[in-house]
Amino acid sequence: MPEDLIIVGGGPAGLTAGMYAARARLPVRLLEGGVSGGQLNNTAVVENYPGVESIAGYELASLMERQALKFGLEIDRERAVGLAATRGGFTVETESGRAYHGRAVILALGATPVKLGIPGETDYSGKGVSYCAVCDGPFFRDQEIAVIGGGDSAVEEAVYLTRFAKKVHIIHRRDEFRAAKEIQEKALQEPKIEVHWSYVPVAILGNDGTEALRIQSVKDGSEQDLPVAGVFFYVGLKPMLIDGVRELAKTDDRGFIITDESMACSTPGLFAAGDVRSKVLRQIATAVGDGAVAAFAAQHYLEGGRHTQLG
Ligand code: NAP
Repeated sequence: MPEDLIIVGGGPAGLTAGMYAARARLPVRLLEGGVSGGQLNNTAVVENYPGVESIAGYELASLMERQALKFGLEIDRERAVGLAATRGGFTVETESGRAYHGRAVILALGATPVKLGIPGETDYSGKGVSYCAVCDGPFFRDQEIAVIGGGDSAVEEAVYLTRFAKKVHIIHRRDEFRAAKEIQEKALQEPKIEVHWSYVPVAILGNDGTEALRIQSVKDGSEQDLPVAGVFFYVGLKPMLIDGVRELAKTDDRGFIITDESMACSTPGLFAAGDVRSKVLRQIATAVGDGAVAAFAAQHYLEGGRHTQLG
């Protein structure tokens, strides 16, 4: 039985789109391969979601899911792997071999951490190298660790990691952070944090596990080895696309999906919301905004209304 609307991805954007669509009584189904919440589950503490002063990422995710389910959203634990245009809509294929048909689809696929690809990064993955402080931070109690990057994720998670580690080195390639000022101030006041300005990581060294991080000055090329047991990479995000998306949706030079302001992609009936979208600000607040708009625009499309679609 085809749904009117299929939402692919159960992070904040997908869950919000699902909640809005369910409240609008659209026949809607959300596909999520893992636990609902997406990157929220890798976020230790959320302090900038309006109305909620401080909450664990996984807790906010579970509240969002509960609210969407309350309004009747159907969630299938299926990992989408492909998208194709079919007569009258789209087919979403999943890893288990199922095919879901919808007259409209909202892609809320999210984004995933970029890997730098330095020597040792893959070899020591899970042996000191991590992309998730909330998952792996407790393994480094009373040890020295390093965080790579200077954006919101790096600086925020470095502050969180001081709960466990005896010292946190932040390695940033410039002499100024990109992160929000408030979180920068917290990091710079934290006695356990040492920032290595204008340095880049060049190799992870060790035997059975991580024992050191080699960093290089971008100013004079000099190198030093920091004696760390863990290295957390936060050097940006890349979109989590599935097969067929690039054929049906225009993407920017980094692969993020281009939409108009109603979240419509370049194929009518296809919408994108949240971090997978080409946008200036990736936040929980902007993801939920995208999700609400996408659900509204999809409803409008399904009811035969005009919808602004990219040319
Ligand atoms: P990001 O904002 O893209 O920052 C990536 C950081 O990694 C930058 O400091 C960048 O340096 C550095 N970097 C990139 N490539 C590098 C390389 N090859 N070598 C060394 N360093 C490199 O990524 P993010 O921090 O993961 O955040 C992603 C998005 O989520 C952003 O929009 C962010 O605002 C949002 N976010 C928001 C919150 C919050 O509001 N609380 C929390 C987490 C994430 P440069 O600065 O020199 O470019």
